[in-house]
Amino acid sequence: MATLDERTRTIHETLGGDVTLPDLTTYDAVLFDLDGVLTPTAEVHMHAWRTMFEQLFAAWDVTPAYTDTDYFEYLDGKKRYDGVASLLRSRDIEVPWGEPSDTPDRDTVCGIGNRKNEVFAAILRSEGIEPYPGSVALLDLLQDQGVPVAVVSSSKNADEVLRAAGLRDRFEVVVDGVLAENENLASKPAPDVFAAGARLLGVDPATSAAVEDALSGVRSAVAAGYGLVVGVDRGVGEGSLAEAGASVVVPDLGVFVPDTSAS
Ligand SMILES: [Mg+2]
Repeated sequence: MATLDERTRTIHETLGGDVTLPDLTTYDAVLFDLDGVLTPTAEVHMHAWRTMFEQLFAAWDVTPAYTDTDYFEYLDGKKRYDGVASLLRSRDIEVPWGEPSDTPDRDTVCGIGNRKNEVFAAILRSEGIEPYPGSVALLDLLQDQGVPVAVVSSSKNADEVLRAAGLRDRFEVVVDGVLAENENLASKPAPDVFAAGARLLGVDPATSAAVEDALSGVRSAVAAGYGLVVGVDRGVGEGSLAEAGASVVVPDLGVFVPDTSAS
């Protein structure tokens, strides 16, 4: 295992002193969740919701104005259409539910939800998304050492997010929400998507590593039999990720890269 640098040692201490960080280059492959692991996608979602609802509320004369508190209270963690319905309800607005196939100009719950997705894609295209530097450093290290990598995401926007982040070319195997739907793979926390990722890479999960920031994702990788499950704590909490089955929990993937302390 590589000599640990200053930063890694500091992390060590916060992890409880004698925790030894595994060397990810010794695994047959490393499979990464996308949103929250490689890219701070939640920020783009927040931005898209804000843009969309500010326009809608202005057009409909809705008060009080939309704030980021609305995001955390009514939208965060909910399915898109449920989020729209619950935020509108908070302003005493009711519109027909509509159909998922509704075009984004329809004033239905589904149409408004689809409008948000359109805004999300437009923001990705115009502003791009900066991947986490520590994650890019780890990808560089793994690819330098010839360790195969893949993405295992629930998102139907995974391809677009990877392109906007400039990471698409790094992955031959991307398991995303579109593939999962086509292949009838059950969502995380079921093992299906992480099992499919290993199968498509041609590796054994038992000698591979998975990296996740969500409890459902950690549970999925554990259920798929991964030899190592790394939890990245972006706010879920170290204890919760460990309880869900993460073998090790880190605040950022840069801790796995020996020379990041130099910068
Ligand atoms: Mg995630």
